[in-house]
Amino acid sequence: MKVQPTGIIFVAECDIQSDRCTARTSSPITAVWTTPGREQVNVCRACLEEMVRAGEWEITGARVSPRADLALVSPGGSPLLIVEIKRRPGVIRDPRAWAARIHRNLLLHGALQPTSHFLLAAVPGPFYLWLARDFINPGTPADAEIQPDARTAERLASLLESDARPVHFEHVVADWLTESVQHLSEHDWLNEIGRDAELDRAVVQTEYAM
Ligand SMILES: [Zn+2]
Repeated sequence: MKVQPTGIIFVAECDIQSDRCTARTSSPITAVWTTPGREQVNVCRACLEEMVRAGEWEITGARVSPRADLALVSPGGSPLLIVEIKRRPGVIRDPRAWAARIHRNLLLHGALQPTSHFLLAAVPGPFYLWLARDFINPGTPADAEIQPDARTAERLASLLESDARPVHFEHVVADWLTESVQHLSEHDWLNEIGRDAELDRAVVQTEYAM
């Protein structure tokens, strides 16, 4: 959905109340207009970012902070893979299109560069991989779909049931990624994102600032 920022700041409760909300009780927040319909939604800065990152809102000209839930970082300190974790809505007609929309919004709002390899860890799976390139048409479908192993899928599914916080999902996906790089020969897709020498000593970082 396209939304328009109002630019107004006032004190109220946030209507969105995401996991990262900073205005669960009255705090300085802003408002956006939905289009069409022109309904006012009061929203804190953190939730506004979450809505954009989740692909729910598109705000022309808005920039969101380039941070990732996880990154696989080479020994030299450069990110080999950027990872965003998102719960997939329960009822969804086309999961690939949903994933492509999130990827597109992250590109449009400056939260992601096409020159990074990007993995959307859709919970409970599959995960979607876009390989780095100089330019990408926003909305391009993922280059590959990756099924997490059964144990990881089970852990993610049980977190979904218990309504766990984002940090818990991050730990499970971080474990999966760490194990994947430790067993390179079983994960062909990793050969696309780095040389063995880099991957061997790469580490997973959470809340990665780009
Ligand atoms: Zn909020």
